[in-house]
Amino acid sequence: MTALFERMAIIGLGLIGSSVARVVRQHGLADHIWVCARSPETRQAATDLGLADAVFADVADAVVDADFVLLCTPLGTYKSLAEAFGPSLKPGAIVSDVGSVKESAIRDIGPFMPDGVTFVPGHPVAGTENSGPHSGYAELFEDRWTILTPPDGTDQNAVDAVAEFWRQAGSMVEIMDAAHHDLVLAVTSHLPHLIAYNIVGTADDLATVTESEVIKFAAGGFRDFTRIAASDPVMWRDVFLTNRDAVLEMLGRFNEDLSALQKAIRYKDGDALEALFTRTRHIRRGVIDAGQAEPDEAPDDAD
Ligand code: NAP
Repeated sequence: MTALFERMAIIGLGLIGSSVARVVRQHGLADHIWVCARSPETRQAATDLGLADAVFADVADAVVDADFVLLCTPLGTYKSLAEAFGPSLKPGAIVSDVGSVKESAIRDIGPFMPDGVTFVPGHPVAGTENSGPHSGYAELFEDRWTILTPPDGTDQNAVDAVAEFWRQAGSMVEIMDAAHHDLVLAVTSHLPHLIAYNIVGTADDLATVTESEVIKFAAGGFRDFTRIAASDPVMWRDVFLTNRDAVLEMLGRFNEDLSALQKAIRYKDGDALEALFTRTRHIRRGVIDAGQAEPDEAPDDAD
């Protein structure tokens, strides 16, 4: 396969960054991979795992001469990192990111992009509850969607190049408005994570009463919530802080629907309960039919 980029810089080498590095290596999507990692441990891992041709501590050094820069750090780091590496970008470079919230990414990165550089915001909707360079794998993006949210007027050649990058990484690509992305993901990903964090927290608060029962009988539904609630605390803190409005809007609707369920249980309205549970069972079938989950597999923790 011909390389799409001569020199690619990956900033941050956690689950997503290291998965990208692996798939770039495996499919030869870039001739050279330069990586910026914050901690000495992650820089050492980049070398040990053979994920980079050069490893940098300073983000400004890592992007010099790169024709494609992919930001793979938590959302809360975007502004200071973009400010630090912006002046070192070469004219014609394309910058993209993988962040789970897109309006804030545009707000935090866009102003620091110099003339002649194009920023194409992106989000691979693929993930697991694991973090760090050892948790990544090249197949993570296969048959998953990557959403690109280029603001109006973004150079089409750059958008096409980023879309082609994700297709060659195994992903399907959709273009969407950033605000719409944030609303959709609030309900499909952010709210489910919040519910999981909450229910596991509630069970933990009860632990003094229930002790080992919480763990012992976890298979009764609780287990799946614990997997999602094991997701990276820093990443998810930043998701909720950057997508506040959309999450609060969806949380409002969720609370109303939960109250309706509470009422149905209180008044023994079995028909209402059965009607909802039948409707939701069809949704699970739709997810399986769309190839986004295996019939007998726990669903991916994609965000
Ligand atoms: P992760 O495994 O926790 O990795 C984060 C990486 O960012 C680590 O390498 C970390 O460095 C680095 N980092 C953190 N703060 C930094 C800073 N100030 N400067 C430089 N590097 C810094 O996280 P992840 O799951 O890959 O998530 C990364 C991004 O992908 C997030 O924006 C998230 O929204 C998005 N995303 C995540 C998922 C998912 O399911 N996990 C899915 C789609 C998109 P150290 O290793 O040195 O700590």
